[in-house]
Amino acid sequence: MKRIAILGGGIAGLGAAWSLEKARRAGQEIEYRLYEAAGRLGGVIASETVDGCVVEAGPDSFLTEKPAAAQLCRELGLGDELLGSNDAERKTYILVGKRLIPLPDGLMFMVPTKLLPTALTRLFSVRTKLQMAREFLFPPEPATSDESVADMTRRHFGQETVDRLVSPLLAGVYGGDADQLSVRAVLARMAQMEQKHRSLTRAMLAARKQRGSAKTAPQPLFTTLRGGMSQMVDAVAAQLPPEWIHLSTEVHAIDRMENARHQPQRHPPGWVVETPFGQDLFDALILALPAWGSASLLRPIDHPLAEALSGVPYSSSITVTLGYDIGSLLNLPPGFGFLVPATEQRALLACTFVHTKFAGRVPEGKGLLRCFLGGARNEELLGESDARLTVIVLKELEQILGLKAAPSFVRIHRSRQAMAQYGVGHLDRIQLVRDRIAELPGIALAGNAYQGIGVPDCIRTGQEAADSTLRALHDAAVGAGAC
Ligand SMILES: Cc1cc2nc3c(=O)[nH]c(=O)nc-3n(C[C@H](O)[C@H](O)[C@H](O)COP(=O)(O)OP(=O)(O)OC[C@H]3O[C@@H](n4cnc5c(N)ncnc54)[C@H](O)[C@@H]3O)c2cc1C
Repeated sequence: MKRIAILGGGIAGLGAAWSLEKARRAGQEIEYRLYEAAGRLGGVIASETVDGCVVEAGPDSFLTEKPAAAQLCRELGLGDELLGSNDAERKTYILVGKRLIPLPDGLMFMVPTKLLPTALTRLFSVRTKLQMAREFLFPPEPATSDESVADMTRRHFGQETVDRLVSPLLAGVYGGDADQLSVRAVLARMAQMEQKHRSLTRAMLAARKQRGSAKTAPQPLFTTLRGGMSQMVDAVAAQLPPEWIHLSTEVHAIDRMENARHQPQRHPPGWVVETPFGQDLFDALILALPAWGSASLLRPIDHPLAEALSGVPYSSSITVTLGYDIGSLLNLPPGFGFLVPATEQRALLACTFVHTKFAGRVPEGKGLLRCFLGGARNEELLGESDARLTVIVLKELEQILGLKAAPSFVRIHRSRQAMAQYGVGHLDRIQLVRDRIAELPGIALAGNAYQGIGVPDCIRTGQEAADSTLRALHDAAVGAGAC
């Protein structure tokens, strides 16, 4: 019987656990244990229902085009619970001065693909619009190495596009800083398009034409679960043997088995996991932790690997969710919400109008606003009290939306050092991590530090870590049998 430990019970660790559980049910001779430091599973995913409204502490949905999350939900019998975003109402505003200006139609991230809406928008100055036209006709030379998303945007569309579009979008999605984030890691497709077409506008128009001829039914941009993202966590947990899940059990050290005193020598050598409750022995470990967590466990084993992992920066975030009677929100502009550029010098990064984004997540007659603060540019807000954060948010909502009504409830959630930031050179760093991990048989990594920070990417890394672990154990068993 091969024994595998999963460290970390966020969605990456749960993705790994579900893959191992399926392999076990299919007859593979394995058992596994999942260690989670917190008293509950899910990591940053946590949902609660307040006054009938679904309030999310972390992610509220996932990108539909990335299949791993919806696929996991279907496997767990949650297919009927999947809920697409209400895209007919999708409109996002950018705060400029005191005005909320809608993103022009046809924008694909920072690339304009429709002439008239781009020409007419008040979001960009005439100078920026001329630069956008020039990008189509006389695109800049493609980059020869990785660069920041801001640098790439500036070369193609100018500084105003960085300030009013790219920075707020990345702060809203990644809690990140466009001047730091790597274009090759965060916008890989754009980097490839630039190499092929030079003009991003031409590349996007070509991609749109190709998609148009494919004649597939349009999918909603985002998908969530009717009862909240925690449904996914609870559904995985319900499939796992409860006695194999160790909550409130932080792993504080791992070691090679041959280094552990009082342990029998085994072949192939395995790993020791140490928790406050003692030691346990395993053939393989899946580290589904933030990169800084894996770094501290791996430091005594492989110092350069730990250095590479601890070099992945993380940002923190705060969400302030406010419940209202819908009558108080009648003056809200139609749409999914707004983003706030750093140049506006406010605490708010973004605000989602939850009751518009997803149908049925709040009861009739209620409205829900979800505000984001913190991120790479405002970490110190984490130290503020709930009362102070509420005052800050209400004041800014009054200034931006003219919203004077008091909310019927407020929920505040802080996610510390939770969002991996893929800085310039991230792909080289991760290649180094992969090369060194390949030298540590029985160790696999999963989580948001590696191949995408979204929920589907994290699930995929967990599943891939489980699959590669099972393959390696199988190969080792075959090899040992052959000797
Ligand atoms: C506020 C917020 C909003 C987001 N919004 C979206 C969104 O809308 N859509 C989307 O796709 N993504 C979103 N994301 C990103 C996405 O949710 C995360 O990247 C993903 O859930 C991370 O999963 P994970 O398992 O890698 O890490 P985590 O969820 O961080 O889980 C890691 C787990 O490891 C545990 N742990 C740490 N150290 C130890 C140890 N030594 N021993 C045992 N356990 C340990 C932790 O307690 C934690 O439970 C959001 C993230 C945040 C914070």
